[in-house]
Amino acid sequence: MVHNQFNEVRELFARYVVPSYGRFDIAFSHGAGNHVWDVTGKRYLDLGGGIAVCSLGHSNPEITEALIEQSRRLVHVSNLYYNEPQGRLAQRLAAKIAPGKLFFCNSGAEANEGLYKLARRFGHEQGRFEILTAINSFHGRTLAGIAATGQEKVKKGFGPAVPGFRHIPFNDIEAARNAISPSTIAILIEGIQGEGGITPATREYLLGLRALCDEKQMLLLMDAVQCGHFRSGRFQSFQRILEGPHGGSPATPEAVAFLPDGISMAKSLGGGFPIGAFWVRDCHAGLLGPGTHATTYGGTPLGCAVALKVLDVIERDGLAENTRTVGEFFRHELQRLVETYPSVLQSVRGLGFIIGLELQDKNRIPTFASSDKASSLQFVNRLHEAGLLSIPSGTQVVRFLPALNLPKVHAEEGLEIIERSVRALA
Ligand SMILES: *Cc1c(COP(=O)(O)O)cnc(C)c1O
Repeated sequence: MVHNQFNEVRELFARYVVPSYGRFDIAFSHGAGNHVWDVTGKRYLDLGGGIAVCSLGHSNPEITEALIEQSRRLVHVSNLYYNEPQGRLAQRLAAKIAPGKLFFCNSGAEANEGLYKLARRFGHEQGRFEILTAINSFHGRTLAGIAATGQEKVKKGFGPAVPGFRHIPFNDIEAARNAISPSTIAILIEGIQGEGGITPATREYLLGLRALCDEKQMLLLMDAVQCGHFRSGRFQSFQRILEGPHGGSPATPEAVAFLPDGISMAKSLGGGFPIGAFWVRDCHAGLLGPGTHATTYGGTPLGCAVALKVLDVIERDGLAENTRTVGEFFRHELQRLVETYPSVLQSVRGLGFIIGLELQDKNRIPTFASSDKASSLQFVNRLHEAGLLSIPSGTQVVRFLPALNLPKVHAEEGLEIIERSVRALA
């Protein structure tokens, strides 16, 4: 029974839900397209997309239809058997990357767990097991996930850490080379760091890591949980980064040939239905043989039918192109705000619909200085008051990860709200 009373909802959480999240004082009841309504009836423009998950917006009728249609036929059978949607989805995803195979699971952290196991299996005979990851990376909240994540705040109080992970500075190829030990077997990076504040890998870094991993017979693994699935304007962020800043720079043979050995996915893949996956390059696809890895819910007919529908809609409606053009417009306008209001804003970063707006430190913004909350959190709260959802990232960055079908008029609606909020602080 739902009463839609905010205080009642909050009371339920206070009494019965593990308090592991810092939550904003908003409870949502329903959404449609790029907008979502809270229980008091207030409407918000959603530029957070449920943290890069709602790739087709809220209550998308085609997702609803796919859910109904598939759930009438078959929801779950277990991986003791074959089911067609899982095979079809694997085929479609592999076709967007390169010859290889897919493993299906239920979340981003779990997809990364699969990559860690793949790497350990690869190095097992030689006694190599160590995985290098980047400082400021984020790879999920399981025990191995927090060991892999290059941020102290997720590890604190959960020791002893899972062994076999070490962190290196991001976008620094020499640091990667120098960090390799006789036990190192893989390097795992995000193509665009998400939780770390929206930092894309450089072209040189990607190509350098590939060459380094080839030289040392190591796996190059990419966590595309947040930056993948067309969010950058291409299926994978490395595809976008390697085509050059405006898609025009001549692709070198190295850039054309670039491929990681494994890629983890989740978030936008299911458009809100929980599904994760990893892709592994053909030459390593036999590493995880029968009995080596499994998950009960992985690749259910229902989850795969939804993910297939999400792909269909993205392709039919040209949403990669929409993400590039509207994302470029949005970023360009934010850059204008950075130049107009330097006392509040520092920079804008990202590609397509994974954009970070960096604020000044709270002590440099008079209105924010008296609070002990970070400037990112205070700014997100102000955007909430003004009817806009965004996601804080660290202490100074606010992230925008909207649905891939966000039309220009809604980007403009968001920009107006952002500009008003920034002007009030300047
Ligand atoms: C969100 C995220 C994860 C974890 O995904 P979950 O579904 O929350 O387990 C891992 N890596 C990156 C880059 C993410 O953004």
